[in-house]
Amino acid sequence: MGKTIIISNRLPVQLQISNGDITAIPSVGGLATGMKSVHSGGDSLWIGWSGLTEEDIPKELEPKIDAALAEHGSSKVKLTEEEVDGFYYGFSNRTIWPLFHYFLEYSEFQLAYWESYKKVNQKFADAILANTEDGDTIWVHDYQLMLVPQMVRKERPNVSIGFFLHIPFPSFEIFRTLPWREELLEGVLGSDLIGFHTYDYERHFLSSVRRLLGLEVSFNDITMGDHVIKVDSFPMGIDYKKFSDAAKIHYNRAESEQSELQQRLNTHKETDPDAKFILSIDRLDYSKGIAKRLNAFEYFLNKYPQYKEKVRLIILAVPSRSNVPQYQLLKREIDELVGRINGEFSTVSWTPIWYFYRSMPFENLIDLYTSSDIAWLTPLRDGMNLVAKEYIATRTDQTGVLILSEMAGSANEMNESLLVNPNNFEQTADALDEAINMPVEEQKARNSVLQKRLARYNVEKWANDFMTSLKSQKEREAANV
Ligand code: UDP
Repeated sequence: MGKTIIISNRLPVQLQISNGDITAIPSVGGLATGMKSVHSGGDSLWIGWSGLTEEDIPKELEPKIDAALAEHGSSKVKLTEEEVDGFYYGFSNRTIWPLFHYFLEYSEFQLAYWESYKKVNQKFADAILANTEDGDTIWVHDYQLMLVPQMVRKERPNVSIGFFLHIPFPSFEIFRTLPWREELLEGVLGSDLIGFHTYDYERHFLSSVRRLLGLEVSFNDITMGDHVIKVDSFPMGIDYKKFSDAAKIHYNRAESEQSELQQRLNTHKETDPDAKFILSIDRLDYSKGIAKRLNAFEYFLNKYPQYKEKVRLIILAVPSRSNVPQYQLLKREIDELVGRINGEFSTVSWTPIWYFYRSMPFENLIDLYTSSDIAWLTPLRDGMNLVAKEYIATRTDQTGVLILSEMAGSANEMNESLLVNPNNFEQTADALDEAINMPVEEQKARNSVLQKRLARYNVEKWANDFMTSLKSQKEREAANV
C-alpha cells in the first residue's frame, strides 16, 4: 500500500508569522474535514500553496515554516506574487470561474494568464513528482489544477490519480468557447477517476470529451489508448454532526451566555413574535445572484404588501476576491440596492434588510441558521452550495423552510425544499409567501427527510466513496477489465 497525496491550491492550514515565530493553524473548512479520514497518519501528504507569496516570506524563516507545515502533514508549493496574479487571480478566477459558471461575458481569454496557469500547474505537478513513487494514490482538487493529472501521469504512469472538480462543468456550447479547451480536457484526462458533484456536470464533461477530442465514451468510461478513465458523480456533503451538535448546544444555552448577536436577534423576536427572519448567506460573488435576490425581495414586498413590517431579510455577504474588478462592481451594486430598498420601504420601527459585509465566526453562523425561519439561497449557478445543507443540519427541531435555487448542485439532493428559478420573480415571491405560511407539520415532514439524507451522505462518506472508487478503478485497469 503506497502513500496518499492530496493536492489543492490552498493548504488546509493558515500560517501566522509574528516576531519570527510561526504558527500553523489547521483550517476548519468542509474539505479539510472531509479529508480527515484520508489525510491521517504518517503515510499521507497534503501539498498546496500556503497563502503567502515568496515576497511575504523572509528567507531565514523558511525552514521553520516547512517544519510547522510538516507537523500537519503538509508541504508548500512556492509561488511568487506574479504567479499568484496570473495563475490564481488571472486564469483561475477571471477565465475558468466565470466561464464554468456561465458568465461568458466576464471570461477573459488572455494568453499571459494561460501561460502562467500552465507554469504554476507544472510547479504543483513537480511538487508531487518529488514526493511520489509507483503505487501511490494522488487526489487532485479543483479548477486551479486541471493540468496536474496529465503532468504527473506523463512521468509516473503507475500511480493512481483522482481528480475532483468542486465547481460546475458547463455545457459543451459554453466550454467550447475557451481557446485552450483541448489542453484543459487532456490535462484532466491524466486521471484514473474524475469526479463531479452532479450527474449533469459529468454528462457535460463527457459530451465535451467526445466532441472536442473524439474519444470513445461508453457509459461513464473514457478510453484513451490502453488507459480507461472513469467519470462519476460524488455530491459533497457537510460535517453534519458538527452543525447539528452546535445547534443543540446553542438551544440549551442560557440567555446570558448567548452571543451579542443572538441577544439582539432575540430582542427583535420578542418585539414581534410573528415576524419572520429570512436568511441569505453567500460569498460576495456574481454567481450567487445576490443582486437579483435583492430585486426579487423588492418585487415580493410590492406583490405582498401585507408582509411589510412582518419580514426581515438578513443578508450576510462574505468578502471574496475583492481585487478582481467584477467583484468590486458587484459590491457597489449590492450596497446601492440595499440602500435603495431600505430607503423605499423602511418605517420608524422597521428596516426590511439587515446587511452584513464580513465573514462571521462559526458561533454566529449557528446563531443565524438557528434563528431564521427561512433560508433563501438562490445562486444563479453554484457547484454545490453547502450553506443550504448547513441550514437544514442546524434545524434540530425540524422547523424552518429552505428556498433553494434549482441552479445549485445541492438542489439535486434537496428536492424537499422549495426549488425556484432565481430569474423568475413571480415564482420566487410566491415561494416566499408559501414559506411564510407553511404549516409546522409540513416543515417537519420535509426537513426530516432532508436531515436523514444529509446525515448519511456526510463529507466523510463523500471522501471515502471517492477513494474507494479510485481504488477499484485502478484494480479494474490492472486486470484489464
Ligand atoms: N462560511 C464561513 N463564514 C461565513 C459565512 C459562511 O465560513 O461568514 C462558510 C459556510 O459555513 C460554508 C462556506 O462558507 O461552509 C460556503 O460554502 P458554499 O458551498 O455555500 O459556497 P462557496 O463559498 O464554496 O462558493
